[in-house]
Amino acid sequence: METRVVKAYGDEKKDRELMREAGEIIKKGGLVAMPTETVYGLAGDALNKESSKKIYAAKGRPSDNPLIVHIADMEALPKIVSEIPEKARALAEKYWPGPLTMVLKKSEIVPYETTGGLDTVAVRMPVNNIAREFIRAAGGYIAAPSANKSGRPSCTTAEHVLKDMAGEIELIIDGGAVGIGLESTIVDLTGELPCLLRPGYINPQMLEEILGKIEIDTSIAGVMDEKAHPKAPGMKYKHYSPKGELYIIEGPEAAVTAKINEFVKKHKEKNEKVAVIASEETKDSYKCDIIKDVGSRRDEETIAHNLFAVLREMDELEVSTIYTEAFDTPRMGMAIMNRLIRAAGHKIIKV
Ligand code: AMP
Ligand code: MG
Repeated sequence: METRVVKAYGDEKKDRELMREAGEIIKKGGLVAMPTETVYGLAGDALNKESSKKIYAAKGRPSDNPLIVHIADMEALPKIVSEIPEKARALAEKYWPGPLTMVLKKSEIVPYETTGGLDTVAVRMPVNNIAREFIRAAGGYIAAPSANKSGRPSCTTAEHVLKDMAGEIELIIDGGAVGIGLESTIVDLTGELPCLLRPGYINPQMLEEILGKIEIDTSIAGVMDEKAHPKAPGMKYKHYSPKGELYIIEGPEAAVTAKINEFVKKHKEKNEKVAVIASEETKDSYKCDIIKDVGSRRDEETIAHNLFAVLREMDELEVSTIYTEAFDTPRMGMAIMNRLIRAAGHKIIKV
């Protein structure tokens, strides 16, 4: 199969035609990659179990790891859930459309192939206009996990998607670089207390403003072993990983730079290709041939936006070992570190 990449910005008439065409591919059971404000999604018809199976196959994703169903309008919600709790309505009112996914009880119409066998369904309404137009053109219900191959860093540009999905899907809608760069916040609203399953742009404080007290799933803290059962099945899998070995070095700034420089020196002596992921403030303190600056510590949104692209760049450069600083920033630090810790397979060195 040849994968076409088509730009979807600039010309209103052409864009409308593209959405119509992309919608037809979905209605026929095909797959299309779409831009959203979080990361690129790999879209199929959420109500067609064969489409969901194709998504798992294209991503190489384990089939017990459920897909998020994307809708374009609030009116679409009642058809796919069996009840809408008051707290879900309040969250939707405040944060939809936006980077928030809610887990609710599913209705019969949603196939178990989409929910990974669960009786609940994760639902999100993206803010991205291209995504919403496309969802409407495709019949209203799009299952879309992140468009990366399973285990790899998520895609924040159409080029990333093409790298992972060339030959696997019919069309990539190129909406340019995404805005946020980390996947949506996921909250489970089916239990006694709302439970945060995956941190994202919408942080716990923002959720608590609307919901009152919430729980935080234990897997988010980063302590994870083989026997752990996180409520979001996807959280147990290795994820976001570059091909090289990634280590997080955590501690006071001077100690971190000194430790990383010491490690880098050892790799260089052995002629190994090594890289450092640093911030704008610290990048000049390293003695390494490859130093990637993810942004200023005073601008955490830029760090979030650049993180996956930098991890992917490490693969292009074929580095065998990567050392990164920790980015425990005030607002999005929980989301950033959740991705980084899992990308590093929990290899954290405290100094
Ligand atoms: P991705 O599609 O790559 O953004 O990953 C989707 C995430 O949502 C995974 O971690 C899933 O385990 C989680 N998820 C999707 N549906 C559910 C659900 N019904 N209950 C709990 N977690 C879910
Ligand atoms: Mg993903």
